[in-house]
Amino acid sequence: MPDTDTLARLSAAVNASFDRQVAFLADIVRFPSLRGAEAPLQDWLSRAFRDRGYAVDRFTLADVPLDAHPKASPMVDVDPAGSVQVVAAHRPAAPSGRSLILQGHIDVVPEGPTEMWTHPPYAAVIRDGWMYGRGAHDMKAGVACMVFAMDAIRAAGFAPAADVYLQTVTEEESTGNGALATLLRGYRADAALIPEPTGHAITRSHTGTLWFRLKVRGAPVHVAVAQDGSNAIMSAMHLVNALYAHTRALNAAAKADRWYGGITDPIKFNPGIIRGGDWASSTPAWCEVDCRIGLLPGTEVADAMAGVERAVREATAGDAFLANNPPELVWHGFQADGYVLEPGSEAEAVLASAHAQVHGGAMPERRSTAVNDTRFYGLYFGIPALCYGPKGEGAHAFDERTSIEDLRRCTLTIAAFIADWCGLTPRAA
Ligand SMILES: [Zn+2]
Repeated sequence: MPDTDTLARLSAAVNASFDRQVAFLADIVRFPSLRGAEAPLQDWLSRAFRDRGYAVDRFTLADVPLDAHPKASPMVDVDPAGSVQVVAAHRPAAPSGRSLILQGHIDVVPEGPTEMWTHPPYAAVIRDGWMYGRGAHDMKAGVACMVFAMDAIRAAGFAPAADVYLQTVTEEESTGNGALATLLRGYRADAALIPEPTGHAITRSHTGTLWFRLKVRGAPVHVAVAQDGSNAIMSAMHLVNALYAHTRALNAAAKADRWYGGITDPIKFNPGIIRGGDWASSTPAWCEVDCRIGLLPGTEVADAMAGVERAVREATAGDAFLANNPPELVWHGFQADGYVLEPGSEAEAVLASAHAQVHGGAMPERRSTAVNDTRFYGLYFGIPALCYGPKGEGAHAFDERTSIEDLRRCTLTIAAFIADWCGLTPRAA
């Protein structure tokens, strides 16, 4: 771990730039960086990185051979050429320590009805020690931490002794293809840290995720003779109920799982978007439901997909109309594995000691029932990947918010981690 004097210098540097860090976070929260609309923020970040002296690589998902990789997920609703990734590189002339990837996603999920927010979702309002906004917590706070941890190291008169890549990616909320794209672009390191908002806990494991769209047909007639037609919305409900039953069976089996056995119903199924029908007095001719279901680490994605297909097929066979008019099942996003950070890695030990130095006490651990990008590094590229970051509340909810004071502590923890993992050299004048 960094010695007391180094830690004190890093702490002073974090404090000295903290007002600027909070302003930076507010700036990036003000960008509504929804899926497919992340480019303006990525361009802004590219400039911010260039102003700091980093070599900046700005590229899109169309610039890498995503389709050729077995772990790329399908993107049916957005154009890969519009999905911008940014990598800012610190490369010492004579690197000596262990290299590091610091990665954060800047895509956010839709805010929903604005009138249900206490503060406007992209205003970055600060009240009573919290900053409010869509993405403030998940995970622009973490992005601000990693950028200003590197700033603090410089301001304290040091530079990391090894290569450090600051990466801002898209698609974390829908496919993970942004993270994969940075790896396909060639970026590698001895460890990766993703400061998702974990409340200063290390993420021991995360579940995988599948996205699929049910496209259901009906037979439109005047509702006066509804018995002669078929209602696509009600048929879709039938399939959704079958998928809930499938999920209950998966959760019963999950009770024997090494990592998730102690967690009630770790596999979550969610019908998340529904569209359908054309007229209140016509039986609906069509209905589409976008769904999400989880899977445990160690379950093959193909097996989880087959399980969904089987559940839909069986429900279809048991319905007179659907049996002759089978629904279409479209895999339109996440095909994500679960991931376990096996205990005992050197990277985790270094992070735990940085955590102890800043927070006092042992680093807690969490098991997540949602996905994050660490799987790409850990499972497919042999890079130990840590998911650990600041504290907030309300991911994907109204009044999402991040704790300002925790932002400061997290920034110092990451700076101490970089110092120990990469080593420090005196900064060239
Ligand atoms: Zn996130």
